[in-house]
Amino acid sequence: MQHYDPGQPDGTNASLTLAISPDGTPEPGRTYPVEARCGIAVRVAKGQTLTVINPSGHQVCDFWAFATENMHEHLSMAHLHTTLGTIFPKVGDPLVSTLRRTLLTITEDTSPGVHDTVIASCDHARYRQLGCTAYHDNCADNLRMALIAIGLRAPMIPAPFNLWMNVPVAPDGVTRFAPPVAAPGDRMSFRANVDVIVVMSACPQDLTPVNGEGVAPGPLAFAITAG
Ligand SMILES: [Zn+2]
Repeated sequence: MQHYDPGQPDGTNASLTLAISPDGTPEPGRTYPVEARCGIAVRVAKGQTLTVINPSGHQVCDFWAFATENMHEHLSMAHLHTTLGTIFPKVGDPLVSTLRRTLLTITEDTSPGVHDTVIASCDHARYRQLGCTAYHDNCADNLRMALIAIGLRAPMIPAPFNLWMNVPVAPDGVTRFAPPVAAPGDRMSFRANVDVIVVMSACPQDLTPVNGEGVAPGPLAFAITAG
């Protein structure tokens, strides 16, 4: 078996060159794009608010957060389920870490609130299983490349918070993939409780309907505001 390095992408795309600044520090008030099929990393300081915008309404954002002081502490969906007692976070809920600290708080969600916390990010192996023989852009590599682009390295690939991803869970636990139910321009905001590095990937999944039926995966946007 090949040596597994969690920080090393299986292929590359423009995510390697899309850093918003050399270390990922944003200019407050400015709106930045997350290019279609790519990922980007941003440093959000304690007290700042990050707003993620879904221009089309049908684009999923794979979302990760790492504590700036120690990236081995990161947003954890499994710990979140314990804290919230549900798999569906909503406005006012804390997003907790592997150390059960609140890294971010959801302060706004203009969409109907349908998001996923149970499905792993797409990756090279997933697309191979789906029949791809050539490299397919994927969220795990976008995370790795977005961090490399600001001089960091992913210490692992945590389970993502999949904004706007619609994975209905039946009472018997059966899951399926459905198109998002958000509207064009819907946005979610997160206030940072501690300094964090957030990575967002405009999911390039085009072999299941998670990014809409019959439409190409598109871009996202984000902005940072003080307080
Ligand atoms: Zn993806």
